[in-house]
Amino acid sequence: MSGNQEPNHRAEQTVCPYCGVGCTIEHAGNGKATGTAGPVNTKGEVCPKGAAAFDVVDHEERLTEPLVREDGRFVTTSWETALARVAEGLGDVVDEHGPDAVEFFASSNCTNEENYVFQKTARLLGTNNVDNCARLCHSSTVAAMSERLGAGAMTNTLDDLAETDCLLVTGANPAEQHPVIFRSYFLPAIRDGATLIHVDPRETDTTDAADVHLDVRPGYDIQLLNSMATVVLEEGLVDESFVEARTAGYTDLTAHLDDVDVETGADAAGVDPETVREAARAYAEADRAAIVTGMGMSQHTCGTDNVHALLNLALLTGNVGRPGTGVNPLRGQNNVQGAGDVGALPNVLPGYQPVTDAEARQRVAEEWGVEPPSEPGLTETTATHRFGDEVRAAVVFGENPAVTEPNANAVRAGFDELDFCVVVDLFETATTDHADVVLPGSSWAEKAGTVTNTDRRVMRMRPNADLPGNARRDLDILTDLGGRLVGEPDAFDYDGPGAVFDELTRVCPPYAGMSYDGIGDGYQRWPFPAEAESGTDVLHAETFASGAETAPLLPVSPTPPADSVGEDELVLTTGRALQHFNSGALTRRSETLMRMRGEDVLEIHPDDAAFRGIEEGDTVVVENDRGSVRVSAAVTGAIQPGVVFCTFHYLDPLANALTGDALDPVAEIPEYKHSAVRVRKPAA
Ligand code: SF4
Repeated sequence: MSGNQEPNHRAEQTVCPYCGVGCTIEHAGNGKATGTAGPVNTKGEVCPKGAAAFDVVDHEERLTEPLVREDGRFVTTSWETALARVAEGLGDVVDEHGPDAVEFFASSNCTNEENYVFQKTARLLGTNNVDNCARLCHSSTVAAMSERLGAGAMTNTLDDLAETDCLLVTGANPAEQHPVIFRSYFLPAIRDGATLIHVDPRETDTTDAADVHLDVRPGYDIQLLNSMATVVLEEGLVDESFVEARTAGYTDLTAHLDDVDVETGADAAGVDPETVREAARAYAEADRAAIVTGMGMSQHTCGTDNVHALLNLALLTGNVGRPGTGVNPLRGQNNVQGAGDVGALPNVLPGYQPVTDAEARQRVAEEWGVEPPSEPGLTETTATHRFGDEVRAAVVFGENPAVTEPNANAVRAGFDELDFCVVVDLFETATTDHADVVLPGSSWAEKAGTVTNTDRRVMRMRPNADLPGNARRDLDILTDLGGRLVGEPDAFDYDGPGAVFDELTRVCPPYAGMSYDGIGDGYQRWPFPAEAESGTDVLHAETFASGAETAPLLPVSPTPPADSVGEDELVLTTGRALQHFNSGALTRRSETLMRMRGEDVLEIHPDDAAFRGIEEGDTVVVENDRGSVRVSAAVTGAIQPGVVFCTFHYLDPLANALTGDALDPVAEIPEYKHSAVRVRKPAA
């Protein structure tokens, strides 16, 4: 511990609570965080969010007492009364409708241990209805990569991507959304001569560093990617020995791509055919070419197919299984990778073992004493569509679905149809507005445990502050709740997060062999075979994670976006800003970050603005059949004609009032990146 600290704060290396990069930080005095030299930010570098992370810890609006609703209003109460109310409320729903009438919303910014206990609670209660907000960001990526390669995670490491010769960044803006990765790994590679190809409808800070920009129309990525694959075939750029040894289905794919005309595909995607050829050559001719993919690819009703098309490119060119290559999703929250790893998903047990696999259920039962249910549960997106019908109760742990789910007005109305809702959080949010009980949990700075970053590194979090008031540690809340709900207190009797992690290593195969103490100030990366010092860096090197020697090539056909776009309509696409994070429940309470970016704007192309008589700074109405918001216009050539862009961090404008219910049929991820909207000046 360093000296000169406030009495309730101390400096202990922990992990930033925001994005999935996994920068290490610690308290630096005067309520400020500072970067420490850690596994990822090796020089202690952090971005503005990391530096401002303490702003929410000491915030005056922190919940410090349990709240129960009485006559429509929250009143403070004791923990015993609040937890008894939760046990009674959920128990009544289970008694009347069965355990599948409850949906458990896990948290991808809470620890592995907390998420593990949470999903164990759901499963011991008798339901697989547990999900986390990975559903909303990369569930389609995970689905495609798991099916084809056997693992839904970055194939490579940040360190080896820094050695690549070509970065194909698709639907991501790492310069703003994963700033430390961009500055400390990607920019050095680019300065060393790597080509950066940026696929994005907008010009962003990432585009500024790019050699090639493909400003694809939102929803038309498959036309673009199939065209690139066709160029690879037409120009003899296939890695024939890799295709021969490591893939299957080449004949079917080439037959499919025979029907793809590059000019026609590029035209449909809204990009210049010659630029498509240039990008395909740069990617295929590089010795080591890496795909880095984000939510611009995944958040579509064809999100899973988008990633299948990316995988075809990587496999055709032999860019899998070697340093500097692969397909690498940049994960959003600090533990979105881990929440899935430990089983907070409705179709898989810890370690991505299918719930339908009897042997996997038996292995888990040997540890838990009870076999988990065999039917896949509801995803959180589908569950919200069934609120008030077959879903009668929700347990929301550290998430804010009233803002983050699509068609937010409908979701909020759905919450009011529930018989019972309990929320564990730090602050009152749009979701706690609908709760019967709110339990004050712990912030990132008050907890211990592990999180897993975007390149599969498991790292330790450590407390830097004491809990405020009567708030409790999340793990204590969840184990207490688990014992009460399931009626098996012994199943949730752990001696701290290290004991939970020990159990996790026994039931979660990728984490087998890891140890809480062994992680220390460093990391252990999954998978973690006995002979590895710190884990496996490059996946799929000899065989694929699926266990097979070959991965299938897969013909992929385009499907249109769910919203058709009328003559007077524009396409709304949404995304993040550097200074804010997800629903903004934390970052909008940070004075530092609000000073940097205090309001949201709608980016609109000058032609679309002029056509509607809109000028810079005007308040405009953005609307469709699902909702209507008002927002200031930013007139900019950085967005292509026909498309407008808004972030989703603010309650006002609530961008998700405009996004739709349509889901990817495989992953059930929403189509956040393509919503038809009308944009106009308000009536005088
Ligand atoms: Fe935190 Fe991500 Fe910024 Fe690093 S890059 S400081 S992990 S928000």
